[in-house]
Amino acid sequence: FLPHLVASMEEVEQTYIMIKPDGVQRGLVGEIISRFERKGFKLTGLKLFQCPKELAEEHYKDLQSKPFFPKLIDYITSGPVVFCIFANLVNCIYFGKAWEGVGVVASARKLIGATNPLNAEPGTIRGDLAVQTGRNVVHGSDSPDNGKREIGLWFNEGELCAWAAALEPWLVE
Ligand code: UDP
Ligand code: MG
Repeated sequence: FLPHLVASMEEVEQTYIMIKPDGVQRGLVGEIISRFERKGFKLTGLKLFQCPKELAEEHYKDLQSKPFFPKLIDYITSGPVVFCIFANLVNCIYFGKAWEGVGVVASARKLIGATNPLNAEPGTIRGDLAVQTGRNVVHGSDSPDNGKREIGLWFNEGELCAWAAALEPWLVE
């Protein structure tokens, strides 16, 4: 018997990852999701969606005053996006204490790489798969609080799936 559902995800840090329209058009969805899975993070939400303008503007509201803002909104709304949530692992197959160390938010930012793909290290998603800031294939939350805010924007209650992964004891001690 394995408990597949855990009681609560509240203590577990989560990040919001969005595969932008260029990533979807270029057939990179599997590749990008795979990098977070292989790292060892746990997928707890997943959707494909063409983003309405209002939602894109709300998501990027901190950048509203930037000169590139209108182009950014056009880009994000130009085709379907895939968005997912990845969670930190817990240290026990039953719901236990969240894994301590660099959290999923900061670690996902490292896997994604610098905003300008030409400055992103090889081995990162943007470093390996993109060449321009305006076509940088993926978004990741920049803080745990923004992670919560973005998850709240893009997902409805009941769409998140908290589950205990059987591999967790082999990834975290
Ligand atoms: N962006 C852009 N031109 C810029 C800076 C940013 O088009 O000069 C776009 C780019 O797609 C980037 C997004 O706006 O990913 C959000 O910018 P941010 O600085 O938050 O970068 P990120 O957190 O995505 O690395
Ligand atoms: Mg950002």
